[in-house]
Amino acid sequence: MSVLAKEQEEAFMKKLIAGNWKMNGDIDEARTLIADIVNGLYAREELLDTCKFLVCPPLLHIASVRHALVGYPKISIGGQDCSESENGAHTGDVSASMLLDAGCTYVIVGHSERRTDHKESDSQVKAKAQQALANDLKPIICVGETLEQREAGDALSVVEAQLKGSLPDEGQWGEIIIAYEPVWAIGTGKVASLDDIAEMHAHIRAIVGARVRILYGGSMKPDNAKEILAVANVDGGLIGGASLKAVDFIGIGRAA
Ligand code: PEP
Repeated sequence: MSVLAKEQEEAFMKKLIAGNWKMNGDIDEARTLIADIVNGLYAREELLDTCKFLVCPPLLHIASVRHALVGYPKISIGGQDCSESENGAHTGDVSASMLLDAGCTYVIVGHSERRTDHKESDSQVKAKAQQALANDLKPIICVGETLEQREAGDALSVVEAQLKGSLPDEGQWGEIIIAYEPVWAIGTGKVASLDDIAEMHAHIRAIVGARVRILYGGSMKPDNAKEILAVANVDGGLIGGASLKAVDFIGIGRAA
């Protein structure tokens, strides 16, 4: 094994299990969910030593989640998006520095739902990732092909183009994370085959090198997590639906 490959294996020995709560739940539900996650994880502390856990609540619930996590430093908080601008006249947006101030250490950028709902381009995603890095947040940069693109045989080239357009400058790659999320697998119950995941993650690894963590996202559940997380170059998961139930979120950690 090369020195670089060994370094990578050691660095990513702990899988990152990241929950994207999306726009779900009121404040009481957020408090209950984080309390259940804390209780479940801190009751099995060995899980906290083998995985890193991250929750990305809706923006308005971050303060409550932060409050609930006082004394539980092994669970991190992330935002679901940040502005590509530093501050100023951008009504409704939130800056990376505000997320940092609110207790976040990560932020998801370029999720396919934002690329679709808000027509976010690769260059906007890149600007968001750069804002995140400038404010000491680790950006989780999402890429993934649609079903049409996969069926046309274009999955690898589509993801490569997204990466090339969305990644910050190479000198800044030390703190970035990539999430490969086939759009057709998000929230649908359909999961990419293990061969397709292996092929795509190897392709992404060849582009970003050994030091960048690569997550898989798309209908990951406790019962499929073990085999997905065992695929080469899968360094963790970005989990939507299953992160809304503490038992499933923790179950994915156990599977890892
Ligand atoms: C996601 O939205 O990032 C995601 C992977 O969702 P789900 O797990 O519900 O497919």
